[in-house]
Amino acid sequence: MAEQAGLVAEPREYLVTHLHAHLDVFVDGEQIRVPAGIGIAIGLAGVRDEMTPDGTEHAYFVDTCDVPCLSPLHTHDPDGIIHEESRTTNHPPYMLGEFFTEWGLKLDASCVGEYCKPDALIRIYVNGNLFEGDPAEIPLVKHAEIAIVIGQPPDTIPDSWQFVGDQ
Ligand SMILES: [Zn+2]
Ligand SMILES: [Zn+2]
Repeated sequence: MAEQAGLVAEPREYLVTHLHAHLDVFVDGEQIRVPAGIGIAIGLAGVRDEMTPDGTEHAYFVDTCDVPCLSPLHTHDPDGIIHEESRTTNHPPYMLGEFFTEWGLKLDASCVGEYCKPDALIRIYVNGNLFEGDPAEIPLVKHAEIAIVIGQPPDTIPDSWQFVGDQ
């Protein structure tokens, strides 16, 4: 997870840097869940396994682990919010490619997971604008809304996300 992406895992949350971006993934117009617990060592002591408020899915939170169990780049809930919570300030933004490495999915100029051009139609949007470069290099800046659209697009490409609070 964190190590493969070149990030340093911690045994608890540090909120010196605390910001959020949002990722939507669509395949033929259907929303694909971004899993909860990416970047979190689920199952280790100190990782809380909770249910989402509607009781249908798991969410993961970290109290204090005996060993590093939390990447500074992670998801708590299956809501597409990417959390960036680290003990350092003013570091360059994390990259979408690092997040996909933690997720265990391929992401480069040709492929998203098992979907590859030219067999698959792949379009990437940042804040509703078509992104033409390598999506692995999209910086996860505060409140970025990233949409990965594979195949038939959804009716609406999201251009923002209603983040709660200031982070
Ligand atoms: Zn967190
Ligand atoms: Zn957060």
